[in-house]
Amino acid sequence: MKIGVLGSGQLGRMLAIAAYPLGHQMSFLANSNKEPCSYLGVSYISDENSNALDDLANTTDVVTYESENTDVNIVEDINKKTTVLPGIKSLYIGQHRGREKALFNKLNIPCAPHQMVNSVKELNKAVDKIGLPAILKTATEGYDGKGQFVVNSKTQIEEAWNSMNGVESILEGFVDFKRELSLIAVRGVDNSHVYYPLVENTHHNGILRVTIAPAQNVSSKLQKKAEQYMRSLLDEMDHVGVLTIEAFETTDNLVVNEIAPRVHNSGHWTIEGAHTSQFENHIRAITKSPLGDTDCVHRFCAMINIIGEHGAIDKVLEVKNAHLHLYGKDERKDRKLGHITLTADTINDLEKSLVALEDFMP
Ligand code: AMP
Repeated sequence: MKIGVLGSGQLGRMLAIAAYPLGHQMSFLANSNKEPCSYLGVSYISDENSNALDDLANTTDVVTYESENTDVNIVEDINKKTTVLPGIKSLYIGQHRGREKALFNKLNIPCAPHQMVNSVKELNKAVDKIGLPAILKTATEGYDGKGQFVVNSKTQIEEAWNSMNGVESILEGFVDFKRELSLIAVRGVDNSHVYYPLVENTHHNGILRVTIAPAQNVSSKLQKKAEQYMRSLLDEMDHVGVLTIEAFETTDNLVVNEIAPRVHNSGHWTIEGAHTSQFENHIRAITKSPLGDTDCVHRFCAMINIIGEHGAIDKVLEVKNAHLHLYGKDERKDRKLGHITLTADTINDLEKSLVALEDFMP
């Protein structure tokens, strides 16, 4: 099939790499010809060609997106010409923290106490209701910890509101969590579902740095609970493709933070670590093919993001069971330039490889 991607970054690149063995052709909506997908298919460059979107829509059988911040109006237009998967409902909900939380409440999925705020007066009221500490976040466009302010004292309310630049925001109660976990699942057009194991994520300055897969010491009860929450979200949104849940593990539960209606950084380990990667399964889902097995190939995996600078990249190739993925991007502060996946069958082997690559960790 001819598959179009709205975007031309690393997620599109890894989708393309998974799509080619299955015989598909790829095209991308890009901003320039110097992007991670530039040599992996046809790029329609929106800055140079005002018909780029139409060209993409008219030459593809199905279109998918790389980011939940994609404009819903654009996707509605494309949907008149070709199929867009995941559908508009998933995108509309996944790009707004308030809509996500409303859906969690509707489906009885635990989430942090929250209140939408549009002014400093409303923020004061929300603080009275939710208590402190709390986190103020922009309702949309937030990623990698951007657009957030931790409010510890009432004296910070004005500063917190000013830092949001007047945009609609959400105040969330601070969750006292043990660790951060995520779950990736895939739903096919025939309502089939597959789930990867819960993984543990470590962030630094709001950016994902390391994923351990599967997360250690996860009871089957917790995995099942996460899958139940996931299933109700997938079905409610009639989602087709990969969906990610980011959650906090508390003493006895999961508190869901947000969802991403797309392949996710915390699932990059699946390329070497699972029988079918998240990228291949997303391609399978949107091309109406049977979903692939999500079982792990190795007992332990770790994924380390390469952020800002490449560092001693040659060293990675000397490490046993290290798999290097570079996205073809120039160095820039806080930019995701690539990742390394470590695979191991004993915890000892994993730890040895992690020590060898400690320069890549914060
Ligand atoms: P987010 O952009 O919502 O993924 O938030 C970025 C990071 O901030 C998360 O990975 C958590 O480490 C932290 N965080 C976000 N929301 C909360 C919350 N309600 N309580 C505690 N920590 C949070």
